[in-house]
Amino acid sequence: MYDGRQLTEWDKKYIWHPFTQMKDYMGAEPLIIEKGEGCYLVDVDGNRYIDGVSSLWVLVHGHGKRELVDAIEKQSKVLCHSTLLGLGNVPSVLLAKKLIDIVPRGLSRVFYSDNGSTSVEISLKMAYQYWQQRGEKRKKRFISLTNAYHGDTIGSVSIGGINLFHQVYRPLLFKTYKAPSPYCYRCPLKLKREDCDLACVEVFEKIVKARRDEVCAVIVEPLVQGAAGMIVQPPGWLKAIWRIAKEHGLLFVTDEVATGFGRTGNMFACEEEGVNPDFLCVAKGITGGYLPLAATLTTEEVFGGFLGEFDEFKTFFHGHTYTGNPLACAVAVESLELFEKERVLARLKDKIRVLESGLARFRDLPHVGDIRQKGFMVGIELVKSRKTKRPYHPGEKTGQKVIEEARKRGVIIRPLGDVIVLMPPLAIEEPVLEELVNVTFESVKAVTGT
Ligand SMILES: *Cc1c(COP(=O)(O)O)cnc(C)c1O
Repeated sequence: MYDGRQLTEWDKKYIWHPFTQMKDYMGAEPLIIEKGEGCYLVDVDGNRYIDGVSSLWVLVHGHGKRELVDAIEKQSKVLCHSTLLGLGNVPSVLLAKKLIDIVPRGLSRVFYSDNGSTSVEISLKMAYQYWQQRGEKRKKRFISLTNAYHGDTIGSVSIGGINLFHQVYRPLLFKTYKAPSPYCYRCPLKLKREDCDLACVEVFEKIVKARRDEVCAVIVEPLVQGAAGMIVQPPGWLKAIWRIAKEHGLLFVTDEVATGFGRTGNMFACEEEGVNPDFLCVAKGITGGYLPLAATLTTEEVFGGFLGEFDEFKTFFHGHTYTGNPLACAVAVESLELFEKERVLARLKDKIRVLESGLARFRDLPHVGDIRQKGFMVGIELVKSRKTKRPYHPGEKTGQKVIEEARKRGVIIRPLGDVIVLMPPLAIEEPVLEELVNVTFESVKAVTGT
């Protein structure tokens, strides 16, 4: 069929890997995955690894899940693609109905695309055009957070706040207002969580009050800022900023690309704080991790702002070729059915507790600065000095070394800088979850000492 050596050689020779320093990559032994079995990945040499970050935060029910594979097969025999531009297709309608039934109250319209970045990009364009068409011509700006990550297209990079990824593009980006990220371990206001009274919310409110006339929308990752290193928001923070945004008439966009579909313990992160956004962006877990698909959901109010006579041109002139792809929608419908049939969220509760107790002993390791967990999203921040919270020098590649150790021990994870991320598939069995945590512990210990 193929020769593993040959594949490795071609991989190094022909592929440019995302978010990867290719000089390092080409100098190392690449790992080529051939199969997925439940919560494991298997490489071309037959080695098995726990899929510790759900194949980059997408996998829900495990690899090779019969119902999901069948749904794709069944749909593939009927229709693989047909455009949504002025036409409908069966699975996209069924999925839209299912989504509207489970998302927070007020969201009533589904606009499809195919990845998280575009789902966000669409919300920005919709929010902007909505105000333009209402005659609010000054509303052209967005408020987002420092440490935010909303994807890699220019619009979503503009509202991003991770300097390492975004700084180089600054001259190409549109201007936004940045509110402080509630990164309590390294509080941007230099306060202590015990007695800060969420002072960062006041800073947010000041920005809103000063800029409300020029701002269309506020955009946040609810409960957890993922790519920044799993920064978990303190209770009450999300609800407070939502209230302020709404009091001042701003649209509120929640980017649930990472947090959606059970990752934080609820179907959507917004639910925990009783937040009803004007836009909800979803992608990653929507198909259970089987095919690329995304959606931007919004309210009847926003949708209504785009209705008009043909030649008024209030149309939303945006759409990707594969928008509403029937295969992707069919597998997403099946994935949502599995959530019900297998009581995924109810069964997750105990696993979240297992994960939590497994993480407790990381505190004994001298270079673990902070342990953050929300549901099945975990970030373990490694530091040179726990006392001063001084980070490691990037050249030490501490995070990278930890995941290499984990790989030797049969676990695939991927760090965010020196934050070790765990984001197991929701379907993971408790013993496998325990093994994942143990291997991570041993790997951190091996790299950073005791
Ligand atoms: C991954 C992610 C995105 C981008 O999604 P892609 O499918 O990679 O374009 C956007 N927002 C958040 C919160 C994410 O975690």
